[in-house]
Amino acid sequence: MMPLVSFLQGAACRGGQIGRLAARRVADFILPPQCVLCQAATADPGGLCAACWREMAFIHDPVCQRLGTPFAVDFGADMLSPAAMAEPPAFDRGRAALRHAGAARKLVSRLKYGERLDLAPLMARLMVAAGRPILADATVLVPVPLHRGRLWRRRYNQAALLAREISRLTGLPVVDDALVRRRSTPPQVGLRRPERQANMAGAFAIGPDGAQRLAGHRVVVIDDVRTTGATLNACAHILRKAGARRIDVLTFSLVTGSEALP
Ligand SMILES: [Zn+2]
Repeated sequence: MMPLVSFLQGAACRGGQIGRLAARRVADFILPPQCVLCQAATADPGGLCAACWREMAFIHDPVCQRLGTPFAVDFGADMLSPAAMAEPPAFDRGRAALRHAGAARKLVSRLKYGERLDLAPLMARLMVAAGRPILADATVLVPVPLHRGRLWRRRYNQAALLAREISRLTGLPVVDDALVRRRSTPPQVGLRRPERQANMAGAFAIGPDGAQRLAGHRVVVIDDVRTTGATLNACAHILRKAGARRIDVLTFSLVTGSEALP
């Protein structure tokens, strides 16, 4: 196999970006599919191996109807968690595919910081499965925006990538410049609720024609991970002011406070 791989690499060098892409397609066809996280052999291209799947802590029903956090025991439909009753979120319903641990945490981190844009389709498929009830009611998708400076450094917004993939799977349109980020915010972890709110105050605003494009809509806000919920709450406040009729939030992973931390 080595001479073939060397040949393909050589051809890629000679052919520039198009050559590299074509060589990768040929290699994908000839070589067995690999796990997107650990490169072990897999059944399907673009998927995870059995060991990485075992690390995925999926969130299943029963969940808190507002926060989407899992319950250990099924108390029946429409149950709220103590956290949702003590501190009701600004959004109507939140859902996430997985707990933010193990392979899920690695996927989030590699999409965000590792330039692994190829992970977005897999992550979006899992988000669509977990978010079925809220996506069925939605009229538009709104990704959490990045501040311009951060977007310039990272070159892409991971939330917008996920929203675009979810749009492809559901047919829901993405409205990605109606909400703008006016400033970057320091991490929320370890802050109490009033401090988190102060931290996020003024972080988001509605873009020039945002109100026109959002008024009356049932919005699903898309992000990669929900930690304290402060970012998504701040987005929900602004979207509500802009006239959105319903605001749900969908993330790939969720920090529930009970993650095993591998
Ligand atoms: Zn793997």
